[in-house]
Amino acid sequence: MNRPRLLDRIAAAQSAREEKHRVRRRRAVSKRDGMRYEVDGQSLLCFCSNDYLGLAQHFVVSTAFQDAASKLGTGAGASHLVCGHFEEHDALEREMAEWLGYPSALLFSSGYQANLAVAQAFLGEGDLSVQDRLNHASLMDAARLSGASLRRYPHNDAEGALRQLRSNASGAAMVVTDGVFSMDGDVAPVRALALIARVQHATLVVDDAHGVGLLGTDGRGTVAAAGLGPNEVPLQVVTLGKALGGEGALVLADRAYIEHLKQHARPYIYTTASSPAAAAATRAALRLAQREAWRRERVFANLARFREGMQRVGFELPESASAIQSVPCGADEIAIAMSAALEAQGFWVSAIRPPTVPENGARLRVTLSALHSEADIDGLVAAMAWARDAVNTGFRAE
Ligand SMILES: *Cc1c(COP(=O)(O)O)cnc(C)c1O
Repeated sequence: MNRPRLLDRIAAAQSAREEKHRVRRRRAVSKRDGMRYEVDGQSLLCFCSNDYLGLAQHFVVSTAFQDAASKLGTGAGASHLVCGHFEEHDALEREMAEWLGYPSALLFSSGYQANLAVAQAFLGEGDLSVQDRLNHASLMDAARLSGASLRRYPHNDAEGALRQLRSNASGAAMVVTDGVFSMDGDVAPVRALALIARVQHATLVVDDAHGVGLLGTDGRGTVAAAGLGPNEVPLQVVTLGKALGGEGALVLADRAYIEHLKQHARPYIYTTASSPAAAAATRAALRLAQREAWRRERVFANLARFREGMQRVGFELPESASAIQSVPCGADEIAIAMSAALEAQGFWVSAIRPPTVPENGARLRVTLSALHSEADIDGLVAAMAWARDAVNTGFRAE
């Protein structure tokens, strides 16, 4: 009788998803030991975690977490501006700012929120957000939330960014890019973008979720690797849930920007602070990332071994010098079948489908970690070759 219209819409979306094989499924992990995951009673070697340096389960990191939790509790109890701001948060902000060579930093509960905050606090109607077409979804959402107009340029095309900036008559403008692109693993031309932004009186924002901890000297990320800092990249976003194995994110900038964020960023003000124990864990992870260069070296050795191996068995991989390696599949069904065939052999590799990637751009997204051994990499390469042949001869996901 009084069936809400929303239910019809949900049902329609569900059947459209099923028809296009676009139903996303989550799996509950019951146990993890490094990259060895237990899911649905099955043990899988994980190649889709962003824990590149293998710090998420390091005993020093988890001990820091436990110690802080026993002293301070689990939840922060309030937002940062009320009584949820702990010394652990404060110290993490200072240490990250110092490490990355920025005057100041502000901690957020997630990268998604940090990106929303940057756009919402600094831009409004009449302003312009110029973005790479392949930027992370949170950056695009952020532009929409801010009310600024969003203009996208072809992937890694600095000239394209310049053209978009020139179309702006009056308001403030931002050029926004991933440092390392989250689906392909390639690196943004940050020097060219910095130059263009400067000429056009725009502000360059780099979201280095997948670069920090891994790329550049001491893992300081894409911006530092390009020899840039706060002058050229006034706003940098780094996330803590990837190479640093924790959760949350920081915005790094001059003090004036950070103060403005504290006062105006709604995704900062109206949310509970992240756990102080998580901040303590991230501080421990940061020290390990700084001290133990072998972790980065292992990732790059694994990366070279994976690319060589894949080439040897006949795969062509797009350029990527980061821990993210993509294996193009084309059609959704192929990517899903490949992923299922890999799982049948004990490997967990996720299939990425539209709308996360463009139509016909379905792929396997392989992430490499310092915790993978040479034998793990060789095993994955052999499984990939087997999976391709199996799929070519009709293997399909159940
Ligand atoms: C993962 C990611 C984010 C989101 O960070 P969370 O802390 O997971 O919310 C933002 N930007 C990029 C480029 C990312 O890869």
